[in-house]
Amino acid sequence: MALLEMAGVRKSFGRNVVLRDVDLVVEPGQCVVLIGASGSGKSTLLRCANLLEVVDDGRITFEGEDITDPRVDADAVRARMGLVFQAYNLFPHLSVVGNLTLALVKVHGVGRDEAEERSLAMLDRVGLREKATARPDDLSGGQQQRVAIARALVAQPALMLLDEVTSALDPELVGEVLDLLGELKAEGVTMLLNTHEMGFAREVADTVCFLHDGVIHERGTPAEVLGAPREERTRTFLARLR
Ligand code: ADP
Ligand code: MG
Repeated sequence: MALLEMAGVRKSFGRNVVLRDVDLVVEPGQCVVLIGASGSGKSTLLRCANLLEVVDDGRITFEGEDITDPRVDADAVRARMGLVFQAYNLFPHLSVVGNLTLALVKVHGVGRDEAEERSLAMLDRVGLREKATARPDDLSGGQQQRVAIARALVAQPALMLLDEVTSALDPELVGEVLDLLGELKAEGVTMLLNTHEMGFAREVADTVCFLHDGVIHERGTPAEVLGAPREERTRTFLARLR
């Protein structure tokens, strides 16, 4: 069974149709990467998957449940996904470890001691154990983004949604975040993400989907989509990146 399946998803804002008839499957353990120009609908697709946007039409199934059913408990669905944005959105007034424990305690009902223990283990996992008591502001952008990823992961989500998590970083900090994502993929973490980092997509993605004006025009392995694109639009997009 697919972990996430979108079928015929349509989303518009007013008269602007942003997603048209989108079909997308994410299997457990897979990394699916969305590529496409700014405004092509990548973030909206992730937001629909996370129920931050209500789709106009189509169906999204997550862990076998139709999450587009209006009776669904959206908070319960979101609690099973980890979402990380471009800007890390850490709580500035909390310590690094406090950022991780907060949702575990408040949203997931984990006891304080266990939340602390799991959070410290997760910080260890992302190489930031020694920053546990620091404030987010005292960390580099790359470290803050690793904390944001750790915060999403510590709740053991079934699916990680990552929206251009390296776009706000200085170029020299991008690598440490992409390396972490590569490690997570190797550990079997399921990810749906969008990025402009084609080198990363080539190395880590199982499937690459090219979005243009809200339509997935081409999808396949990185070798297929990035190496030998069939569609003229994909070729034009890739050529502009070089
Ligand atoms: P991408 O992430 O690929 O850059 P987005 O999903 O952010 O693309 O945006 C796709 C289109 O949807 C754009 O035309 C954008 O202006 C529009 N859009 C996105 N979010 C909203 C919103 N909340 N209200 C109105 N229009 C939106
Ligand atoms: Mg976007």
